[in-house]
Amino acid sequence: MSALQPNGTVRDYLGGQHGLLIDGKSETEGSDGVIAVIDPANGEIVAHVPAAGTAEVDRAVVAARRSFADGRWRSLPAEQRRQILWRFADLIADNFTQLSHIDVVDNGMPLAFAEWEIRSCESWTRNAAGKATQYFGRNASGMASGGGIDMHAYTLVQPVGVVGLIVPWNAPAGNLMIKLSAALAAGNSCVVKPAEETPLSALLLGRLALEAGVPPGVLNVISGYGKTAGQAIADHPDIDKISFTGSTETGRQIVRSAAGNLKRVTLELGGKSPAIVFDDADLEAAIPQVAMAIFANTGQVCFAGSRLFVQRGVYDKVIAGVADFAKSLKIGSGFDPANLLGPLISAKQQQRVTGYVARGREQGAEIVMGGGTYGDKGFFVEPTIFANVNRNMDIVREEIFGPVLVATPFDDIAEVVTAANDTRYGLGAGIFTEDVNKAHLMAAAIDAGNVWVNCYGTVHPALPFGGFKESGWGREMGEEGFAAFTETKSVYVQLKQ
Ligand code: NAD
Repeated sequence: MSALQPNGTVRDYLGGQHGLLIDGKSETEGSDGVIAVIDPANGEIVAHVPAAGTAEVDRAVVAARRSFADGRWRSLPAEQRRQILWRFADLIADNFTQLSHIDVVDNGMPLAFAEWEIRSCESWTRNAAGKATQYFGRNASGMASGGGIDMHAYTLVQPVGVVGLIVPWNAPAGNLMIKLSAALAAGNSCVVKPAEETPLSALLLGRLALEAGVPPGVLNVISGYGKTAGQAIADHPDIDKISFTGSTETGRQIVRSAAGNLKRVTLELGGKSPAIVFDDADLEAAIPQVAMAIFANTGQVCFAGSRLFVQRGVYDKVIAGVADFAKSLKIGSGFDPANLLGPLISAKQQQRVTGYVARGREQGAEIVMGGGTYGDKGFFVEPTIFANVNRNMDIVREEIFGPVLVATPFDDIAEVVTAANDTRYGLGAGIFTEDVNKAHLMAAAIDAGNVWVNCYGTVHPALPFGGFKESGWGREMGEEGFAAFTETKSVYVQLKQ
């Protein structure tokens, strides 16, 4: 195996025929045409998948609804659902190399990042499998009765119904499995749409779920374009909930579409997260963390630490340290383990990011390093750092979703809290200090769904993940994320004395 290629099994898989998964069957034609899947490291077409249109979405929804109505999944004994999901996790583990190689080809991410992603998929699925046997309602008979027990009152926790799961390209398998594992564990039937840029791991995961024993029709996977297949899912009157990860702009569109039948909506959207370094921080430990907070997955991470705030006394030292670290990152194909920076997802994204760099220069930001494209093929952009930026610049206000860091000095806590919260987003925040008191005060003061102190980007399936403000609605993972795939029913039974 060449260091720069997927293994033979994956090459065979890529070259094979790919089908939508509808009602347990593979469909190799889509009414919206064909999607050519491109390897962003070299711009070459690696596979073709069908593009579903409204006809396929309709059939997938009918299949999901039928499976929900006849209870083939939601009415199974919980222990049986647990076992099937555990087997699904086993199959994810068995296909670890294939799945991680597929996401490297599809997305361009470094292999180590893809391996972390697929290990997380396995872990989320095992966690959800356990959850399938551990949720139930509460008894409120004592509370609801007039005296003695004359009212048997309790809550039933039930699946929402048919759920549409729409995900982006930046962590194709991971973003999907966070949702899918919880949705299935709670007993829902699902219609999944991966991003048009990265459909391959989702199509394989659909087949693995079927092989694990998830009954046909319960999980339908539709590759297709956002404006057609995605929009058809968002509009569909027989879908009860949408769980969406993607851009804030598309999130807004989903909310408008969901108004038709008042679907439940969970949104994991964009971010412009601050990384804040105080002058008492352990700089040797903080500098690589701050650098990887923005440069991991080439900045294509929703919670990327894209705004750096450094206390004035250590500002020059930290900027120089982050720049030195960034210069040490090797750029290239994700299949070479030496490369820690991959390409951006597409030529369009490359142009978008370099467009922001040009606007940053025009608006007077000082460029410390980078800013250009890299190599003669693929969609690479150099790691880029802007210093001494101000709040009015587009590069400070907007999510770039690329390897671009903007840095500003600050003097005290009040100033940095105001500056860090001066954004419409609120997904993550990193705080670097050796002062535990300051760390807790900052954690409470920053508007963000996830705060990391002296680390960045850790996620655990037991803890909820999500955003404040325009970074989203609701949470994934943890108790909150699971509850988002359930409805709670109150039942009152009048007892005869
Ligand atoms: P996007 O919004 O363009 O696309 C996301 C998904 O939505 C894709 O599957 C796409 O086909 C689909 N889509 C597009 N238009 C649609 C429509 N009208 N109706 C229904 N579906 C539609 O986002 P992207 O560019 O693929 O992904 C990048 C964005 O995702 C960034 O903003 C990033 O911050 C965000 N993101 C957020 C999280 C999180 O957990 N908060 C995680 C990863 C990515």
